[in-house]
Amino acid sequence: MQNIFNFSAGPAMLPQEVMQQAQEELINWQGLGTSVMEVSHRGKPFIEVAEQAEADLRELLQIPANYTVLFMHGGGRAQFSAVPLNITKSSDLSQHLVTGQWSVGAEEEAQKFCRSSIVAKSKEIEGKMYVPKQDEWSIAEEPGYFHYCTNETVDGIEIDWVPKSQSGQVPIVADMSSNILSKPLNIEDFGIIYAGAQKNIGPSGLSVVIVRNDLIGFARKDTPAIFNYQLQAASGSMYNTPPTFSWYLAGLVFKWLKAQGGLTEIARVNQQKSQVLYKQIDATGFYSNNVHNEYRSKMNVTFKLSDESLNEVFLKQAESNGLVALKGHRAVGGMRASIYNAMPLAGAQALADFMKEFERKNG
Ligand SMILES: *Cc1c(COP(=O)(O)O)cnc(C)c1O
Repeated sequence: MQNIFNFSAGPAMLPQEVMQQAQEELINWQGLGTSVMEVSHRGKPFIEVAEQAEADLRELLQIPANYTVLFMHGGGRAQFSAVPLNITKSSDLSQHLVTGQWSVGAEEEAQKFCRSSIVAKSKEIEGKMYVPKQDEWSIAEEPGYFHYCTNETVDGIEIDWVPKSQSGQVPIVADMSSNILSKPLNIEDFGIIYAGAQKNIGPSGLSVVIVRNDLIGFARKDTPAIFNYQLQAASGSMYNTPPTFSWYLAGLVFKWLKAQGGLTEIARVNQQKSQVLYKQIDATGFYSNNVHNEYRSKMNVTFKLSDESLNEVFLKQAESNGLVALKGHRAVGGMRASIYNAMPLAGAQALADFMKEFERKNG
């Protein structure tokens, strides 16, 4: 057994029980004498895995019947292009709330396929990053869709409220790559939810897409077939060979989440984990976090040392204490502790204890 806590932002740690099960059945899956990677996606054993995974995801997130779940290729970024290709004409407008690196990326990609506009950007108020509320946005025309990112993985900004379409006609599209399944959701608030798998679902390469049925069927003619929601929906996400191993592993993660007590329980633990860390960060001026309390991420806790010349020693000593991958994204520097669902409370506690001790020695 490995004795480390892995705080990687993604690909990120997966539940230990899931990894153990995958290991045990890796070369002899369901007594078939082969791996799940080596069987046809159209055969009965894999179809059962695929269907069960979808059923468990639907149960966990309480996905209504008028939404389709797709297991697609290309991770989070593929959907930056798939969304406009599937639901806009090039003359339509996509509207974006920009709160960090990932929502910027989605807006830049949308520009290739339709017009785009930014309703608001996160901004610093008294040293803390804040997300303007809807009554502070500038909106000139009704868009084809509205896009935002519910958790900015790099910047550590999480938005718990859901924007509302004034007319009720604008699909709300959410990139939930780094906080899907971290808490209960009201799916009906959204037109499309998508997530790359490697933060909270399973191995990278897979994207999970939850799309309201009335938004399916409008893909432009030049949409690559594998990104066409209608084709993928009609073929059970098997228009081409899906990422079968990732789908299987996602299914194991969904089962694990159910065994933990579902998303209400998961959310409670996530709250505790993040509290333990923010409390340590706020204790003195030795560490700091630059996000307004309302928007502090429960998945990616970013922080800086007041003396940044200690960064390298901090990372080295953390690593020798079994606390790995804490270096912040190169775009923002500092530190980042990614504490997705698979990170146990003990991991967050171990990091907080280490931070306290490091401060005592170096403060
Ligand atoms: C990681 C991430 C992505 C990109 O995912 P890829 O699978 O690398 O394309 C997009 N959005 C968010 C919020 C992410 O955290």
